[in-house]
Amino acid sequence: MAGIYIHIPFCRQKCYYCDFYKTVNTSLQHDFIGALKNEAKVRKNYLNNETVETIYFGGGTPSVLTAPEIAEILAVLNKEFTVNSNAEITFEANPDDLSNAYLKYLKQEGINRLSIGIQAFQNRHLEKMNRRHNAAQAVEAIENAAKNGFSNLSADLIYGLPDLTPKEWEESLNQMFKLPVKHLSAYHLTYHEGTAFYTWLKKGTLKELKEAESVAQFNTLVDLSIANGFEHYEISNLAKDQLYSRHNTAYWMGTKYLGLGPSAHSFDGVSRRWNDSSVEAYIKAQTNNQTYFDEEKLSENDQYNEYILTRIRTKWGVSEKELEQRFGHEKASYFSRQLAKYNDTGVLQINNEIITLTRKGLFVSDEIMADLIII
Ligand code: SF4
Repeated sequence: MAGIYIHIPFCRQKCYYCDFYKTVNTSLQHDFIGALKNEAKVRKNYLNNETVETIYFGGGTPSVLTAPEIAEILAVLNKEFTVNSNAEITFEANPDDLSNAYLKYLKQEGINRLSIGIQAFQNRHLEKMNRRHNAAQAVEAIENAAKNGFSNLSADLIYGLPDLTPKEWEESLNQMFKLPVKHLSAYHLTYHEGTAFYTWLKKGTLKELKEAESVAQFNTLVDLSIANGFEHYEISNLAKDQLYSRHNTAYWMGTKYLGLGPSAHSFDGVSRRWNDSSVEAYIKAQTNNQTYFDEEKLSENDQYNEYILTRIRTKWGVSEKELEQRFGHEKASYFSRQLAKYNDTGVLQINNEIITLTRKGLFVSDEIMADLIII
């Protein structure tokens, strides 16, 4: 069982908070598709012929791709890999790209899950973030996707935005719950160095939300989502009818995956590889058969850390039994000692030897994870 991630590094314009690798130079798109197809062929043995259960088009903005480009990519994946006929195929899209004609193409090409970047339902926030769509387009995109037969719909929202009021955040969530969305990814805004938001924060022209307000927005997210039939299954992810993201859940469960495209990461169980970020360099390297990635073999400590970092963020948690079986008594004892520091703090809970974060713990998860891993 394995997954394939494809990084589409193009965006029509840059959002002011985003630090993902992307370029607005879409003139490179044609050469990029050629390079991507080449990488898929060259790396066809990376997954050891394991069946591909999930394919994920992320970015960047995959919805800048034309229908024939999507078809070409999927054809090469189906030719070079064993893709399950029932595979989850997710496609990230911006609302303003989802015309009826485009949605029909996506459906026809076998895309069966859409992840739509909504971020907010207030035009003032969308403009401030430099998103290309407005609130009305966001609603229309989700409704049109459902009308075109997409029943597995995910949407992204951002909270903790500068000057996002509690009322606006509730309004965004309630608007989302009125729509046929089965999965919600909600992220707290991060001020990444190199982004416009970071520069404005440093200059003082933009003000960070107070921590207490961020915590309150996180609580509103979880409370309202649960009240509307969603299950909080990972720090930033909530799902209805058990429609978890199969692709991301496989990451958290330590499944192998192949990442294609600039900046994409791959994992084969014992080592990690990450491609260089520049699309120009990526195309050149694919054309000239040059190395375009870095790699690291995971030590036993790295593998233990990976297990903790990925599992503790999910509702499936860390199993003390599995920890001992996989990593031995010494590491399991280390984990228990670190865990004991949190007795009576209310941030962790244990059920049948499975350790998960409580609601209180989810918000301070970075701190707890740093304490549980081996540095
Ligand atoms: S948030 Fe998405 S659309 Fe906006 S710049 Fe980043 S990758 Fe592109």
